Amino acid sequence: MIPQSNPLAGYQERQAELDAALLQVMQSGWYILGREVEEFEREFAEFTDRRQGVGTASGTDAIELALRACGVGAGDLVFTVSHTAVATVVGIERSGAEVAVVDIDPETYTMSPTCLEETIEAAAQQGHRAAAIVPVHLYGHPADMPELLKIARKHQLVVVEDCAQAHGARLDGKLVGTWGDAAVFSFYPTKNLGAFGDGGLVATDDDAIAERARELRQYGWRERFISAETGMNTRLDEIQAALLRVRLRHLDNDNQRRRQIAGRYAAGLAESEVQLPSVRPGAEHVYHQFVVQTERREELREFLKSRGVGTALHYPCPVHQQPAYADRLFGCERLPVTEAIRPRILSLPMFPQLSDTEVATVVEAIQQWPRN
Ligand SMILES: *Cc1c(COP(=O)(O)O)cnc(C)c1O
Repeated sequence: MIPQSNPLAGYQERQAELDAALLQVMQSGWYILGREVEEFEREFAEFTDRRQGVGTASGTDAIELALRACGVGAGDLVFTVSHTAVATVVGIERSGAEVAVVDIDPETYTMSPTCLEETIEAAAQQGHRAAAIVPVHLYGHPADMPELLKIARKHQLVVVEDCAQAHGARLDGKLVGTWGDAAVFSFYPTKNLGAFGDGGLVATDDDAIAERARELRQYGWRERFISAETGMNTRLDEIQAALLRVRLRHLDNDNQRRRQIAGRYAAGLAESEVQLPSVRPGAEHVYHQFVVQTERREELREFLKSRGVGTALHYPCPVHQQPAYADRLFGCERLPVTEAIRPRILSLPMFPQLSDTEVATVVEAIQQWPRN
């Protein structure tokens, strides 16, 4: 069986380095907010070309923390997409803000600037206080930041980029996470930079936002044991930071390998019935996922399973159609693209340790899928 993702292979590839880093933390006697977290924050901020990194316990927490640190909260409306991990919406609502959902561009699966403008106008007419946008660089493809930023500036909105699937992706040579006021990352094990448990980070160039985030992540403490405001407990721990430091050294190579695999898929499947992902000019995709489309998605999924090829759905159901959110997110009646792709998308196996032979097996299986 070729799995769709394989975090164990990621461990085995660098086992000696990772084991040594783990042991060093265990023997140090210091487990929360120490040297490893400080060094990782510095190294990751440098990797993503921002002045400051603030580690958190998860990507979801990083979204809540980033918005709160930017002054967004109760009474505010925050614009994001419904075609995303539910974590995006959970993080926004936990900040106290309400969520407006915006449709996506059918080529890149990311927030459509035209739809954003329309949803902002509809919200204004109904008396909402628009405060921020959270574009998601989904599957590793950058959102249209130049256009989204123009709209955000025009309406004076805070911009928090959800980079959970796009560590190292670029648009016009500029890294994702450097366009907005702040950016959030997740280190969930299957992400391009994955921990061995949960983890996340807020990146920013604004020292005041970073300082506020550091206070809020630890009970709102400005000085130890004295809460200046109501905070959270969302610290990245020393073990995860130490393991992430090892993996960060290989991230560029891992992303390069993902691009290589995507190139092989694209070449092998060019003549097939499935619709391949597109890359907009100027975008450097990091292929967190390789998502194809077909009208006969369930048939293809079953066929690949019978050939020993694992697949996944990212995601089986947009957020606005899930029971907890049904009919209550602003803008949920204007999402034609989001709803149209739902039954068509399929994620093929994608992780750096996938071998060329395995990639060829996946390609052959799809080539042999009987045509309609
Ligand atoms: C993974 C992910 C997050 C954060 O998830 P956590 O599991 O809380 O780290 C947020 N947004 C997107 C788009 C994600 O894929």
